[in-house]
Amino acid sequence: MLVDSHCHLNFPEFKQDLNQVINHAHNQGISYMLTVNTRLSESLEIQRIADTYPNIFCSVGVHPHDSKDYNDPTLIEQLKSQANHPKVVALGETGLDYYYNNSDQIAQIECFNMHLNTGIELDLPVIIHTRDADADTLSCLDAYPDVKGVFHCFSGSPDFAKQGLDRGLYISFSGIITFKKAEELREAVKFVPLDRILVETDSPFLAPLPHRGKRNEPAFTYFVAKQVAELKGISIEEVAEVTTKNFFTLFSKAVL
Ligand SMILES: [Zn+2]
Ligand SMILES: [Zn+2]
Repeated sequence: MLVDSHCHLNFPEFKQDLNQVINHAHNQGISYMLTVNTRLSESLEIQRIADTYPNIFCSVGVHPHDSKDYNDPTLIEQLKSQANHPKVVALGETGLDYYYNNSDQIAQIECFNMHLNTGIELDLPVIIHTRDADADTLSCLDAYPDVKGVFHCFSGSPDFAKQGLDRGLYISFSGIITFKKAEELREAVKFVPLDRILVETDSPFLAPLPHRGKRNEPAFTYFVAKQVAELKGISIEEVAEVTTKNFFTLFSKAVL
């Protein structure tokens, strides 16, 4: 049994065949999925998906790309009211993306801080997206030392992974770890202790080898777990067992 800890099942790529995609995941041993919110305008749609499928959980939050559209103090109240839904088990994805800078950096930081603050208040973990923003990500986190969360789709250095671990975070690896040029990232996989690792697809993006370039889907969590197993020198069953346990420890509101 594996869990896809981060996918986007409401995205247009899945409009035609979501049922089949979810059945395919089940047949490949992906027993649970967390479908992640990026815009509040889509949060009810995501909750509907989570309500339809007993084994799908969801989050509520605003992606750093979209933070400029939601950056006012009422965001906190909106997060809180949406988080009342029983299938909402986390806040996010939030964070900082200075690679694309689709929102200006001040707006990103303010939005990220509102998620961190609300995560502590509601005792919910925060799903963190961070790209080319290591120092600012860490300084935001340091203002909220009690926050629980995960660096999702981790693509940083082993040292940045250590900074996250030191702050109590989990590290979630995606299909990027299968890409040929991701040598440094594979070092990070070796470095992160097994009891702090999650696996994800970030579907529909970033399909792992051997499906690179195609639409990604939760079934492909298998290839991420297989790569983790190879790097750790253990069986895929062991990776499945530990990462599933980690998922339900971090996202403790997700009850079976
Ligand atoms: Zn992301
Ligand atoms: Zn995502």
